[in-house]
Amino acid sequence: MLYNQIFFKSILDTVENHIVVIDKNGDIIFTNKSWNSFGENNHCITNASDWQKINYLEVCDKSSLNGESFGFEAAVGIRKVIENKEKTFYLEYPCHGKKEKRWFLMSVESFIFEKTEYFVISHQTITKRKLAEDKALKLSLVDGLTNIYNRRAFNRFIKEELKRWKRQKTPISLALLDIDYFKLLNDTYGHLEGDNCLKKIGKVLKKNIKRAGDICARYGGEEFALVLGNTSNENALLLIDKIKKDIKKHKIPNEKSTVSPIVTISIGLITINTDIDTDEKEIIKKADELLYQAKQNGRNQVISKIE
Ligand code: GH3
Ligand code: MG
Ligand code: MG
Repeated sequence: MLYNQIFFKSILDTVENHIVVIDKNGDIIFTNKSWNSFGENNHCITNASDWQKINYLEVCDKSSLNGESFGFEAAVGIRKVIENKEKTFYLEYPCHGKKEKRWFLMSVESFIFEKTEYFVISHQTITKRKLAEDKALKLSLVDGLTNIYNRRAFNRFIKEELKRWKRQKTPISLALLDIDYFKLLNDTYGHLEGDNCLKKIGKVLKKNIKRAGDICARYGGEEFALVLGNTSNENALLLIDKIKKDIKKHKIPNEKSTVSPIVTISIGLITINTDIDTDEKEIIKKADELLYQAKQNGRNQVISKIE
């Protein structure tokens, strides 16, 4: 049976993937219906035949000049297939709309028709999978009880912040906070009240830690951590003072504590000011030693050090 061009075009127009075919110069030869509708809905090109006046590689190059790294990656990948350096190319990239988030998987493959090589670039929507992955990632980084970041997130963040600190040479502060005599609180009022106390402290930290270079996390049982990027010791101390006052306002009872009948915390704070050779393990260790000193000194206090 012989099929004509319209028959095959009709098949391609039923495909949900956005498909464009280019020649080896990058000039667009064919676009399917999904591609055209996407262009129309996103105010690129409303007349489908106008696509054939466009060079796809130039569009990618332009978007990379506008600072879109995905445009650059796409252009490099497509050229590799055109130059026969790779058989196929895949790229997952975001293309968010005004109201909704969107991700696509781009694939590039070649075929030969009448001795000329063409390249099929297909964009498949992967938004559902990406959103599910995002949700799973978020869940894996958040502490279930307090709803603030967990230790895994903290470890990731401090590594990144330290990289930035090494580049920018701005001071970085790390504070470890530990609730005083928390075991007594649990023993006196029960584990549920203990959990409520942890939630309240988590809320106080979240309320006070707002800048992009900062993070608060539950470091372990009744221990919390603050990473304060680009923050001097003086400013870190001011913030900690505010947090201490906020916790005091909550008047969480811990009557058996020898420090105070309401919950208090001890803090070890380290600020790295100078360009010393250090890593996150060393900084955490230093903050932990300072926290230990705060406990030894009678609790309910901050011990801080600048290096
Ligand atoms: P210190 O002032 O020296 O820090 O004394 P502390 O009692 O706070 O410290 P200790 O390490 O002796 O006890 C910590 C307690 O925290 C023991 C543990 O049962 C409790 N804890 C750890 N995680 C949780 C939790 O998720 N919920 C509750 N309710 N308690 C927890
Ligand atoms: Mg502890
Ligand atoms: Mg404690």
